Amino acid sequence: MTICLELQRPPRIKLFGWRASIGSLPAAPHISSRVPDFSMTCSVCTHTEDTTTHAILECPLAVQLWGGSGLDTALWSTRHRTLADCVAKARETLDKDSFGDFLAVMWECWNARNRFIFRRPDNNLSVLGKRVIAFVRSFHELQNVELSPHTTPHPNYWSPPMTGIVADNTVGWGFILHDHDAKMLLTIVKHHRGYAGAPAEEARACLYGLLCAHAYGIHNIIVESDCLELIQMLENKSIYDNCISLFARDIISFVQNFDFYSWSFVKRGQ
Ligand SMILES: [Zn+2]
Repeated sequence: MTICLELQRPPRIKLFGWRASIGSLPAAPHISSRVPDFSMTCSVCTHTEDTTTHAILECPLAVQLWGGSGLDTALWSTRHRTLADCVAKARETLDKDSFGDFLAVMWECWNARNRFIFRRPDNNLSVLGKRVIAFVRSFHELQNVELSPHTTPHPNYWSPPMTGIVADNTVGWGFILHDHDAKMLLTIVKHHRGYAGAPAEEARACLYGLLCAHAYGIHNIIVESDCLELIQMLENKSIYDNCISLFARDIISFVQNFDFYSWSFVKRGQ
């Protein structure tokens, strides 16, 4: 269903929707045909048949998330033979924008499930559906607005990744804020003599970048860094008694000011 790829939605949601529409998401039955002794039981609720239909539409975790999304219950609670049938029915019923919202919630069900399986469960599943819809609508809005450095940022802009945090503890550091099309919105470089190791300086650059992004009017952000130690610390909220943790604690506290945030490890050069 190529319509999924034409929506004004973040690329990973479009791709996810397209894979769901053609039945190519990795489900337990597919994996078990290749991996000996692979369990067919749902890792969340121990339901005996872990299909994508169960994972995304029927599992209690997904039901709670869909229930809080505000989308019509019939869209997801009607029994369908396959997930692809459910996507096709939603496409028939909904206009293009609402269909994009539907795919976004479906994508978030998949993510919440993975977070649960990898022992990072969400505290409040019922808010995730509305949050992801707000996220994709802001993305849509951003795509339709010409943003130049001279315009006053709209408070609802989705800001796209803050990438390229560069830390060097002898010459300074900086960061680049750019949108989904890699258009640069803001770049800041600070020169000073660093006093900590590279990961701590990376954390300091990250904190400074978040402060600047928020002051610039950004409310939704993805922070990308090539410092795996920092990204893992932020993602797991694991604070220790060391220098990097001083900044990480402030980052974790300050990032609560954003409506949406996520951390992403990227290899330098990508
Ligand atoms: Zn389940």
